[in-house]
Amino acid sequence: MTKKRILTGDRPTGKLHLGHYLGTLENRVSLQDDYETYIMVADVQALTDNFDKPEKVRDSVYEVALDNLAAGLDPEKSVLFVQSQIPELAELTVYFMNLVSLERLQRNPTVKSEMKQKGFGSNVPVGFVNYPLSQAADILAFNADIVPVGDDQSPMLELSREVVAKFSNIYGYSFRMPEIMVGRVARLVGTDGNAKMSKSLGNVIYLSDTEETVRKKVMAMYTDPNRKHATDPGKVKGNPVFIYLDAFCKDKAKLSELKERYAAGKVGDVEVKQYLSDVLNEFLEPIRERRRYYEAQPELVKTILSNGTQQARITVAKTMQEVRSAMKLFGT
Ligand code: ATP
Ligand code: MG
Repeated sequence: MTKKRILTGDRPTGKLHLGHYLGTLENRVSLQDDYETYIMVADVQALTDNFDKPEKVRDSVYEVALDNLAAGLDPEKSVLFVQSQIPELAELTVYFMNLVSLERLQRNPTVKSEMKQKGFGSNVPVGFVNYPLSQAADILAFNADIVPVGDDQSPMLELSREVVAKFSNIYGYSFRMPEIMVGRVARLVGTDGNAKMSKSLGNVIYLSDTEETVRKKVMAMYTDPNRKHATDPGKVKGNPVFIYLDAFCKDKAKLSELKERYAAGKVGDVEVKQYLSDVLNEFLEPIRERRRYYEAQPELVKTILSNGTQQARITVAKTMQEVRSAMKLFGT
């Protein structure tokens, strides 16, 4: 029986953080044994809002690859590749651009909020509003069955599914219908209490942060704003410190005891934060160790990416042959 396929990835605009881990990395790592897994370093997509920062994007390709390997992605099981090295993905994007209206792209809620955040106003680059369609091309070019992502990506999956239907109607070729798979924590809050942990908001804990940095960031974390003293009853629900503990603490008995004491005003923020620092550092240690292993061998990482890219190209070439022929392009 052929294995089902996974396609997902990250934009190389910096290092990966705990939000990425819970939203998607954790699923990638646990599914790689049973699925044919393709992980894309989405440098073309990163350029849509970083076109004037090419060095940043180039350098982050390596960082994102390291973070994936550090999180436990096994290059023997998964294909790690670089988007820009597969020009067919850009080709497929162009064909898809005929199938979707500008108005449809502008309705995308994730793109809308990102445009606001980036202050594009009415000067939004065409490439930026079009990135969900380019993402649809990535997913469909691999004929992915499953796309493990954070829930901010659900509008992209919806669009991809629409393109499958439309393409099949017009050209009679059916891509596999992709399904979203959202992580254990669909959208991790930031250390500042913002609804999304995000590099651009500066509220992140990176997978590569040192023990000391993690401790500092946790100590500065937002908690219950109404709690002034350790003896005030505190709010557990929606409190970022407890959201992180819920996600990473393995000792559930200790955690529920801590929650009870917090709600009763019998424990200070400092003690809770010290405990969270310990929990996070314990979780991150094996990730840091694998990162050090790969960091010491930049040639190995390069080889993993170039071998992965070669393998990915073969998969995409097969789809594109079928696509071009369905579209009755010259020579097919
Ligand atoms: P940032 O906002 O930090 O720059 P990003 O959203 O640009 O990150 P991407 O590379 O686009 O990062 O996202 C990679 C994957 O990680 C996507 O599947 C996305 O849904 C997921 N992800 C990013 N941030 C979070 C979060 N805070 N919680 C859950 N999943 C997340
Ligand atoms: Mg994003």
